[in-house]
Amino acid sequence: MAGEPQDDCLFCKIVAGHVPATIVRESETTVAFRDINPQAPTHVLVIPKAHYPDAASLATAAPALAADVLRETQAVADEDKLDSYRVVFNTGGGAGQTVWHAHAHVIGGRGLQWPPG
Ligand code: 5GP
Ligand code: ZN
Repeated sequence: MAGEPQDDCLFCKIVAGHVPATIVRESETTVAFRDINPQAPTHVLVIPKAHYPDAASLATAAPALAADVLRETQAVADEDKLDSYRVVFNTGGGAGQTVWHAHAHVIGGRGLQWPPG
């Protein structure tokens, strides 16, 4: 069923506490933790606790939960005292998505180029 935990999903395992992560925030519906391979001084992943494979499927199936994820990106930025930051949802392998559990990258703490690579 949509949203149910997947046995083979790394981020579902982080939600369940079966894989350790440096958690920076947790809400009833979301978890935010530091990326294991940070690309900037702040590089935090915000995920819904429920499993959806990417951001668009999350927004389609559970729009309020998608909004929770977006709201948490600002809370992460506030926690790290960032005035500016970037939120990225890599979608599809060609765009660099490697984990098929929706996640927002919150990136900041250094100059950010636009357009991105
Ligand atoms: P994607 O490439 O799918 O947009 O983002 C997946 C992110 O998850 C990558 O930035 C990668 O560094 C991060 N990641 C992969 N495995 C782990 C892990 O075990 N723990 C944490 N904290 N991050 C991970
Ligand atoms: Zn998952």
